[in-house]
Amino acid sequence: MTVYFAQKLNELAAIGQQRAFPEIEHTGKWIEQAGNKLLNLSSNDYLGLATETDLMQQFLSEVQDLPLTSSSSRLLTGNFPIYNQLEQTIAQDYQREACLLFNSGYHANIGILPAICHRHTLIVADKLVHASLIDGIRLAECKWVRYRHNDYQHLAQILEKQAAAFEQVIIVTESVFSMDGDCADLAQLIHFKQQYPNILLYVDEAHAVGVFGEKGLGLAEQQGCIAEIDFLVGTFGKALASMGAFVVCDQLIKNYLINTMRPLIFSTALPPFNVAWSHFIWQKVTTLTQHRQHLAQISQQLRAFIQDELQQPMPSSTNVVPYIIGDNQATVTVAQQLQQQGFYALPIRPPTVPKGTARIRFSLTAAINTEEIAQLMDVLSNIEQQRCKEAN
Ligand SMILES: *Cc1c(COP(=O)(O)O)cnc(C)c1O
Repeated sequence: MTVYFAQKLNELAAIGQQRAFPEIEHTGKWIEQAGNKLLNLSSNDYLGLATETDLMQQFLSEVQDLPLTSSSSRLLTGNFPIYNQLEQTIAQDYQREACLLFNSGYHANIGILPAICHRHTLIVADKLVHASLIDGIRLAECKWVRYRHNDYQHLAQILEKQAAAFEQVIIVTESVFSMDGDCADLAQLIHFKQQYPNILLYVDEAHAVGVFGEKGLGLAEQQGCIAEIDFLVGTFGKALASMGAFVVCDQLIKNYLINTMRPLIFSTALPPFNVAWSHFIWQKVTTLTQHRQHLAQISQQLRAFIQDELQQPMPSSTNVVPYIIGDNQATVTVAQQLQQQGFYALPIRPPTVPKGTARIRFSLTAAINTEEIAQLMDVLSNIEQQRCKEAN
């Protein structure tokens, strides 16, 4: 009976794509692996808050006794005042009517789309949206098409041909994309809403919340268009150093989701203790302009270095910085060399990224200082020189 599983695993191993949990330990911004201490350049803790023990101490000294479980869905006995408080705080910061919390970004994305789509819905999604959005689209069981990544001409063609035949069209995008670190142009997407009154806009800001905008509300804040996004999804698991997710939307939509969204209705709500931590962190994050500035500065430095000194393409305009090498094996070798020299950077290969674009994906955080970036650039220079010598 289980031969099939073993066979599949062997197939994955044969093409070098079998996955396993790494054996690592964490000390602040460092990762310990096989006795070596490496600077973590692959973290989603974009503001460096997950490792700030002072923050945790402050939270623990202030927090009231709160349960470590909600024991139920919020619709039964699992609703606690802290949920409503956090929703109110977030809605106020975005200056929107409502906010609704979820257990994770994955829950949000697999739950909202199936709830809001019906037979007369068309979903039009960017080619590179996150796996959780793809799963949500599949569960929605309506017609869907994908437009080439950030190619709004292609999107315009699709809309021109198809939008009129549907009652509602939902455009789905991320604001910051996780592999290239490039951004959607939200103003252009909003422009389509003005052309087609049956369009709703769904934007996943998982990588942007905490990082962009004066208050860290995300790319929509930076681009000045929060009010125009029908579903603005953010998560607490990355820059917010917590767990869970939220959507910012109109009150009507919130009420509708409470009545129809299965992962919200049929899953135990997050622990109140955890939600209190999210609330605590949220209030801090809106003030951390200096963290955001520092992160933007070191990211700009590394991007410029890879583009100008290493002469590699640089699609990114964010703290997610790809060093695109192309060849799979060469990329793995560079990752190993970086690790030998104290930098925990990971290779990303097809099928996660398109063929021929294997890369090192640097994911910078505000905990990394300018000396560490300078050291990284030195090491990269040496690796690149060595690669050139070997090629000649
Ligand atoms: C990380 C991520 C998610 C998933 O969020 P979790 O809270 O980790 O489940 C969803 N969308 C995007 C774009 C992400 O990067």
